[in-house]
Amino acid sequence: MAYNPGIICFRHCCSESIFCKSVPKLCPICQSCIINCNIEPFLVPYPYTNATYHPVAIVVRPSQGSFINDYTAAKDLHIGVTNSKGIVFEFDRQGLIVNDHCRWTDCVAFKIVPSSWENHWDETLERMLKDTKWKSKNYDEVDMNCCNFVMEFVNNLQYTNIKFASKEDMCNELIMSKIQDAIKYNYVLKKLEKNDYFKL
Ligand SMILES: [Zn+2]
Repeated sequence: MAYNPGIICFRHCCSESIFCKSVPKLCPICQSCIINCNIEPFLVPYPYTNATYHPVAIVVRPSQGSFINDYTAAKDLHIGVTNSKGIVFEFDRQGLIVNDHCRWTDCVAFKIVPSSWENHWDETLERMLKDTKWKSKNYDEVDMNCCNFVMEFVNNLQYTNIKFASKEDMCNELIMSKIQDAIKYNYVLKKLEKNDYFKL
């Protein structure tokens, strides 16, 4: 199970959010005792999850290392797809591989179709698994990689309004928006390594 560093967020006297690991006695902004808050302290949702527990999802992780320890926005991402049993399908230099789940314990996972599409989702994955196009010899780091696989999968689904003309479109529209929370979480966590609290 993923390690949750336990970031707490609250608002006391103004609209600024205060992030911390434990709620202080005095508000760092107004210096008065924290009794009533504008927003009561809550545990910030941990953005990373185990792909196995996220069936029928797009899953994203850094190509190297883990989100929580070494991810910055400039680093390469690796993406895959889980089927209805939480089995990961991903395309890399070994070709289309299935369920290397131990490398997906700390990923970002999100759904793009309603549950009524699950059968079609699985069938689309199985069809692609049999397609020789996704053999290792066809892999190319730039022109034929994990993003090509996910883009073709999403386009094959033919789900309403979700279709991408290029990998860049898919990354910008589908992936980057979903990992913004994760990037922000890492940023706050880094700040809390050196400070007791952080305002945002
Ligand atoms: Zn205050």
